[in-house]
Amino acid sequence: MKLSIIFIIFALQFNTLNKIHYKMSTIRFHALKETFNRKPVKFKEKGKHSENFGKNVFNFSAMRQAMTKEAFKSVQNAIEHGTKIDRNIADQVSSAMKDWALNKNATHYTHWFQPLTGTTAEKHDAFFEPIENGGAIEKFGGGQLVQQEPDASSFPNGGIRNTFEARGYTAWDPTSPAFIYGTTLCIPTIFVAYTGEALDYKTPLLKALHKVDAAATAVCKYFDKNVKKTISTLGWEQEYFLIDDAFAKARPDITLTGRTLVGHSPAKGQQLDDHYFGSISDRVLSYMRDLETECMYLGIPVKTRHNEVAPNQFELAPVFEEANLAVDHNSLLMDVMAKIATRHHFKILTHEKPFAGINGSGKHNNWSLATDTGINLLSPGKTPMNNLQFLTFFINTIKAVHDHEELLRAGIATASNDHRLGANEAPPAIISVFIGAQLTKVLQELKNVTKGKLSPEEKTDLKLNVVGKIPELILDNTDRNRTSPFAFTGNKFEFRAVGSTQNCANPMTILNTIVAKQLEEFKVEVDLLIKDKKLKKDEAIFNVLREYIKKSERILFEGNGYSDAWEKEAKKRGLSNNKTTPTALKAKISKKTLDLFEGMEVMTKVESHARYEIEMEEYTMRIQIEGRVLGDLARNHIVPTAIKYQSALIKNAQGLKDIFGKEFKKIAKEQLELIKDISGHITGIKSKTKAMINERKKANKITDIEKKAHAYCDKVKPYFDEIRYHCDKLEIMVDDELWPLSKYREMLFTR
Ligand code: ADP
Ligand code: MG
Repeated sequence: MKLSIIFIIFALQFNTLNKIHYKMSTIRFHALKETFNRKPVKFKEKGKHSENFGKNVFNFSAMRQAMTKEAFKSVQNAIEHGTKIDRNIADQVSSAMKDWALNKNATHYTHWFQPLTGTTAEKHDAFFEPIENGGAIEKFGGGQLVQQEPDASSFPNGGIRNTFEARGYTAWDPTSPAFIYGTTLCIPTIFVAYTGEALDYKTPLLKALHKVDAAATAVCKYFDKNVKKTISTLGWEQEYFLIDDAFAKARPDITLTGRTLVGHSPAKGQQLDDHYFGSISDRVLSYMRDLETECMYLGIPVKTRHNEVAPNQFELAPVFEEANLAVDHNSLLMDVMAKIATRHHFKILTHEKPFAGINGSGKHNNWSLATDTGINLLSPGKTPMNNLQFLTFFINTIKAVHDHEELLRAGIATASNDHRLGANEAPPAIISVFIGAQLTKVLQELKNVTKGKLSPEEKTDLKLNVVGKIPELILDNTDRNRTSPFAFTGNKFEFRAVGSTQNCANPMTILNTIVAKQLEEFKVEVDLLIKDKKLKKDEAIFNVLREYIKKSERILFEGNGYSDAWEKEAKKRGLSNNKTTPTALKAKISKKTLDLFEGMEVMTKVESHARYEIEMEEYTMRIQIEGRVLGDLARNHIVPTAIKYQSALIKNAQGLKDIFGKEFKKIAKEQLELIKDISGHITGIKSKTKAMINERKKANKITDIEKKAHAYCDKVKPYFDEIRYHCDKLEIMVDDELWPLSKYREMLFTR
């Protein structure tokens, strides 16, 4: 009897304890507990970077060892001169590739490509193949290397390919070497429909690179007849956030959208700037070391790493490479980063704006052109002739950006990058070019060059005092304008407005195409002056450049790109200021753009239209998903929590009333106000969410892709901030213990 009473008391007590425990063990508290107990995961030290570099890449040196001279020469020719590889050679290459891969314990192979989803795609096949007598062999023939047919029906195609047909194929890109990732041999490929249209990022990029090579090489011949090839170079800088993955799992918004849709800013943000270049924590350092080791094996030449401005924000940058390879390496890196982060219990956020009120992330694209004679065409040289060549490429690039600023803006338009561009942070949505005070002066002087023939005195003056002085000027040209979306930084242009999640191929295709087009026009104009006006080559070049400077002046801007004054000034200058993706994307199907891409044989009009549709649809889907997640969070997480807390307050107030009677209103003033405020915010959330859902329903009924994207942008999205406002207010009112979502201070300051 006694025992059973004790047992009942114990059981009751246990039950209440359990209840308390239940209250405490919201997912947020679990996440906090998990992170408190984290230790740095030991990195897998694997020797010197220089020794590991390219170990898992079927590069020239691996090929030379593994292949016959004939096959090697053939592949080398294909890479350097774009020649075709015949079937017999492809068999030899595949056989060598297979032996090399098996030797490195690879079991599968895949055609690795970049569909228009923005990520990379792969479908693994085993080398293994059963044979008649019950045995098995490892097989990988030339046919399998050169072409594959993935079931492509689920990749975006913008209506090009009837989905039921599902007929697209991948084809080997020998200019980007195969590599082993994990136990899979990955073969970089293009992805095209059977009808010939590109379904990926790489195909138009390769075409644009081919065009810029031809156009730049032709112009180079004015200065050096020995130039046979020009490559476009790209050095990207990848910014990202790292947070503990327990927090990411505890936040449905991060899991589903890659960013926080609610969350009050922490008491300490980035105002002290103490994170920039600060010391890197052990946990993060261990992650970075693993990441860098893997990059070395994969031949991604990462070189610098540092903390960025915001807490838990970092940057990784490689040595620049040929643009196609650099694009592949960036896509691969983003995949590798995410995988290695998992091992270290981190979640990597490459979204452009994961946290409101805290700096976002970008992916600066440093770009230049280099000749096979070893000259960087955007680097001032030692002689006046070299400098005239530099000025030619420098001014032509400015002119290209000037003529196609709206298209460049379109090339970086995504739902997530809208949070940066035009949102009073990072580069503005207005494209302009920063060149620094010294080069501005040089352009001013060139603008005054006499039209037509130059006098001998003027020639000497130009040589000595304008063109001849450039290298010295550049050396002390240290002023850098961080607010510029497109800045000249000494020996390259830096396209800073590119988003951190983006595939670089899109902006790189545009930039290389517009520069190619510009260089083609330049050559025609110069040749005409030489032929018709009988000008000397230098004179003709000076004459054309002078006109270009005059025509493209409005794109040059040295001031603060974030300021309101610039927005007004840019408007006066007639520059575009497309703040949202649906508005910005329109430039992708303007007559000017369609003609440009078709004329340059980079994309047909059908392909341009298809891409436009895909990007508009993607925009709509992203906003749609965010709207749904925000609605769920507000109604299922935040409102119930607020009600719970409010109930406790009501109980408390009622108790006070019982004790103090009439006086209670004075005593419980704070509680009563809080109760009222909470109700106000709950009502706010409810009404705004309802209105948002209504707009979503209306938008979903729209069949026109363009109108639908605009509806999501102009009618649905504005509610996000309004709903968020009430949620964030509640976050600072409600008892911290009850709050279900990981807070900014936890995610950003827990290492
Ligand atoms: P930050 O912008 O952080 O100050 P830098 O201006 O030093 O950094 O830029 C470094 C990046 O520029 C690196 O990724 C590097 O590879 C790239 N880079 C340097 N020279 C070239 C070039 N000629 N072509 C393309 N990228 C280049
Ligand atoms: Mg930079």
